[in-house]
Amino acid sequence: MSELSSAQAIDQLCLQCGMCCNGVLFRDVELQPGDDGQKLKTLGMPVKGKAQSGKFNQPCVALGSDCRCRIYADRPSRCRQFECALLLEVMAGHTETEPALKLIRSTRRKADKVLKLMREIGDQSESVSLSVRFRKLRQRFESGDLADWLEEKSEEELYDLYGQLTIAVHELNCVLSEKFYPQK
Ligand code: SF4
Ligand code: SF4
Repeated sequence: MSELSSAQAIDQLCLQCGMCCNGVLFRDVELQPGDDGQKLKTLGMPVKGKAQSGKFNQPCVALGSDCRCRIYADRPSRCRQFECALLLEVMAGHTETEPALKLIRSTRRKADKVLKLMREIGDQSESVSLSVRFRKLRQRFESGDLADWLEEKSEEELYDLYGQLTIAVHELNCVLSEKFYPQK
């Protein structure tokens, strides 16, 4: 198997993926020393906190539907430095591009299933990462705080959807841990 340059691998994989920007892998991006939070704000990024040590939440508003970063030349250092485990595998020639793309497609389908179940329950927090969204949903189900959704669905239906959601989140997290988060 042949090695790929970083640019080749990003072209082939990342433009079909976007999961490190769209709230599937991460909840936010923390700025690092050297990042220009003020400039990011002028570019429309919702940076919270101090200019040098703030952060912005994911799903990232700079991510286009074509998986391109709208502020690519000015993206913060965390974004510049991050390479997921799958990308590194492909760059090193340990995994071919086609199986990697197949894995990206199947993982995106898993994330879509999680989103679909959240929407079916009635959750509308689309601007929040999947992990934060699931934590808030879990708190509501555990405390029985379901009143907002009971006009549309019975309690039994809601708990059934929550059960399906819990399994879907687990299945997604397993593949993210095994194939995408950097291995320590
Ligand atoms: S998760 Fe990996 S393959 Fe997907 S966009 Fe990020 S770096 Fe690229
Ligand atoms: S700034 Fe660009 S690279 Fe960074 S999370 Fe947003 S879309 Fe992704």
